[in-house]
Amino acid sequence: MWPSEGQGGSCVADCLFCGIVKGEIPSEKVYEDDRVLAFKDINPVAPVHVLLIPKEHHSDVMEAADRDPAVLGHLFTVASKLAKELGLSEKGFRVVNNCGKDGGQTVFHLHFHLIGGRQLTWPPG
Ligand code: IMP
Repeated sequence: MWPSEGQGGSCVADCLFCGIVKGEIPSEKVYEDDRVLAFKDINPVAPVHVLLIPKEHHSDVMEAADRDPAVLGHLFTVASKLAKELGLSEKGFRVVNNCGKDGGQTVFHLHFHLIGGRQLTWPPG
C-alpha cells in the first residue's frame, strides 16, 4: 500500500512514485529533467505505455493545478516530445489522466499516461 492521497509537498513518504523519483524503487526511465520524470508503465496496455510525473508530489491534477499549474504545460510538452521520439506522432497516440477513484486513479501522485503503438478505441471503460 502506498497511502499518499491528500498530501502535498516536494516528496511524500510512502508514495510509490516519489520512491521512483528518489531512485528507491526501480523504473525504466525514458526521460528526465529537473521537474519531470517519465518511465515505462509496469503493466503496459499498448506497445508504448509511458507514465509522465512531476518530481514534486501532487496527489492529482487538481492539486497540481492549484499548486503549480506551469508543470501541467511542461508535462504535455514532454509528452509531445516523447511521442515524436517513440515514433507515435505519425499514427497518433493518447495522453490520459485518471483523477480520483471514479476516474480510475490508483496511484495518488499525479501522472499522465502516454499510450500508443496500436489502434486505440473509444470510449474508455
Ligand atoms: P492510474 O490507474 O491512472 O493511477 O495508473 C497507475 C499506473 O501505474 C498503472 O498503469 C500501473 O500499471 C502503473 N504502475 C504501478 N506501479 C508501477 C511501478 O512500480 N512502475 C511503473 N508503473 C507502475
